[in-house]
Amino acid sequence: MKRIDIELIKQLEQLLKSSSKSIVLVPHMHPDGDAMGSVLGLWRVLQNYGLKVKMVSPTKYPEFYHWMDGHDQVIIFSHHPKQAARAFDESDLLICMDFNQLSRLGDMKPLVESYKGKKVLIDHHPYPGNFTDLVISDVTCSSTAELIFSILQSTEFNSCVDRNAATSFFTGIMTDTGSFDFNVSDPQTFETVAQLTRLGIDQLDIHSRVYDNYSADRMRLMGFCLSNRMTIYPEYHAACMYINLEDQKAFNFITGDNEGFVNMPLSIKGVVFSALFTEKEKYTKVSLRSKGEFSVNEVSEKYFNGGGHRNAAGGELYASLQETLTQFEKLLPEYDEKIKQSLIKKL
Ligand code: 5GP
Ligand code: MN
Repeated sequence: MKRIDIELIKQLEQLLKSSSKSIVLVPHMHPDGDAMGSVLGLWRVLQNYGLKVKMVSPTKYPEFYHWMDGHDQVIIFSHHPKQAARAFDESDLLICMDFNQLSRLGDMKPLVESYKGKKVLIDHHPYPGNFTDLVISDVTCSSTAELIFSILQSTEFNSCVDRNAATSFFTGIMTDTGSFDFNVSDPQTFETVAQLTRLGIDQLDIHSRVYDNYSADRMRLMGFCLSNRMTIYPEYHAACMYINLEDQKAFNFITGDNEGFVNMPLSIKGVVFSALFTEKEKYTKVSLRSKGEFSVNEVSEKYFNGGGHRNAAGGELYASLQETLTQFEKLLPEYDEKIKQSLIKKL
């Protein structure tokens, strides 16, 4: 069991139980498996308890999460802004999950900023912002899904965690740890997985639904990028890859098709820092990964308007793909020492 201040948990329990209208659960924009796993899992638990709950996502999320319980109930703000605003208006409690900065809401930020009811944050990223009435933040958790499951255990809602909720929570833990490849130094993560397994989840099925659900085009795009869009910087133990708009058109790119690309160069001997740049209409999406102690969230905060975790971070730069690539090459010497330290620890 995680050591989260029991007072905070009791306050959350009280807020949930005293909601007389409805509760809205919100993930960050472009939600990943942990953001959706946390939201859908908590939604199922609170529904089972008999509370009225809605889910509003700032944007859509990849199709390989559409099988999850409750997916058809998620209101997508970017597609249905009026319906989203109504859900906010008709509720008295808002729970922000798997992010800790308002900027992670994109165009939905004003709706949350001006929210009249109580606001709660449940998250595992460093440096939580101060925009909610209650903050439950634990950076030692592998994922927000692990954190919320742990919180629920000390509340009356524990008995409402069913197989569906457990499946959603497992999806969050599995995806945020890269299938138990990173963020798994705390035995508690595996104890949580053991508990979820006892609730009847089918781990192989979940893994397959998430990771064996891509198109052939995506596989070909991956091969193309590895062959034609990857640069290795041996002196910096770094690698970068990019996907421009033309490539996306050529390979019928859909949301989520670049998932996992950024991790691949880390399997090259000597590479401990990897970056992926995906060109968008108005900006460049940045994904950073590292092995060892080198903190890519610092790089992302300083250069790419983003953040994240030590070994997995991301951001966005309102600059062209070419400018972003130039920026990346320029920053490498600054981190030379830190990267080398990471390499020593890796070997
Ligand atoms: P990904 O590279 O998979 O998009 O993101 C990796 C991690 O970086 C995410 O789990 C999230 O914690 C963080 N991240 C991604 N994009 C952003 C961003 O734009 N801003 C911030 N603050 N964090 C991000
Ligand atoms: Mn997460």
